[in-house]
Amino acid sequence: MRTLCLPADSASIAQAAQLLRAGEIVGFPTETVYGLGANALSDPAVRKIFAAKERPADNPLIVHIAALADMEPLCHINDMARRLAAAFWPGPLTMILPKKDIVPAVVTAGLDSVAIRMPSHPVARALIEACGLPIAAPSGNRSGRPSPTLAAHMLEDMDGRIPLILDGGACDVGVESTVVALTGDIATVLRPGGITPDMLAGVLGQVQVADSVMRPLKEGEAAPSPGMKHKHYAPRARMTLYEGTAEAVAARIRSEYDALPETERALILAASEHLPLYGNRRTADLGPDEASAAHRVFALLRQADDDRITRVFSETYPESGVGLAVMNRMARAAGFDIVQT
Ligand code: AMP
Ligand code: MG
Repeated sequence: MRTLCLPADSASIAQAAQLLRAGEIVGFPTETVYGLGANALSDPAVRKIFAAKERPADNPLIVHIAALADMEPLCHINDMARRLAAAFWPGPLTMILPKKDIVPAVVTAGLDSVAIRMPSHPVARALIEACGLPIAAPSGNRSGRPSPTLAAHMLEDMDGRIPLILDGGACDVGVESTVVALTGDIATVLRPGGITPDMLAGVLGQVQVADSVMRPLKEGEAAPSPGMKHKHYAPRARMTLYEGTAEAVAARIRSEYDALPETERALILAASEHLPLYGNRRTADLGPDEASAAHRVFALLRQADDDRITRVFSETYPESGVGLAVMNRMARAAGFDIVQT
């Protein structure tokens, strides 16, 4: 199969909508990362997503809608969901709610809950509206690779596997949506993202963050969110994170970098203001703040692969605000190899 990558305009969006209605899968931009979409109500169409991504069947998908009225047929809506939708939709927030029968089991990996999001990206919204269907869409990377934040990243992973990718430029947020479970008495963040726990608490009064957001699951421990148990976001290089003051972290990274054998190609991920601490060693700029780190992290990890980097040393961020989302992705990319300096 040849994979077309077309600028997202009304003609290509209409073509993508037609493919979705015909049971095909297509790539499209959202404000978080690029997604790989299928008709969420069609079991065979959704199976194509799992095949193209080589995604484990026990990792459920998010269903994307364009209007609040599209939600009612899919799940049992509660008061927390109504308030969060009013505050944050359209936007980078996914809600887990009890599913209705119309949603095929393949979408939810057999769970009795379903993940729903209303994206704000104009291309995503136009596509969902044009096909008139809820769209099941995980991130558009092959399983285990960093999520795509450019159409070119998605083409790298999906070339020959899908008919069409809509190119809408760089994704704004850069990390996947916040996932919040609304199936219990207290809203629980299962995956941090652009909508922070504080923002959710501002609306609901109370919110908790699942333990497994910042630590690996124990052997045999049930994952509150199935995606957490899979290796994620990883570059091919071995990656280590360093926590501590900027000076202590830089000193430790410099000495480990300098001690590497000639055969290794190392890269240091650092905040803009810390770059001078690393002299003329190979560095990549995470930007001035947590939001820019979220925007850049996946692209930098992909670039490291392209540059045949074998060892990544990275600075870290406080686990608050969007920093929690950045650290959640980086910790998984590093296989939780985190050093205190
Ligand atoms: P992706 O769109 O690739 O970022 O993956 C969607 C993620 O949403 C999955 O990895 C799950 O962790 C989470 N998710 C989807 N549906 C559910 C659900 N019913 N319960 C808990 N987590 C879910
Ligand atoms: Mg994903």
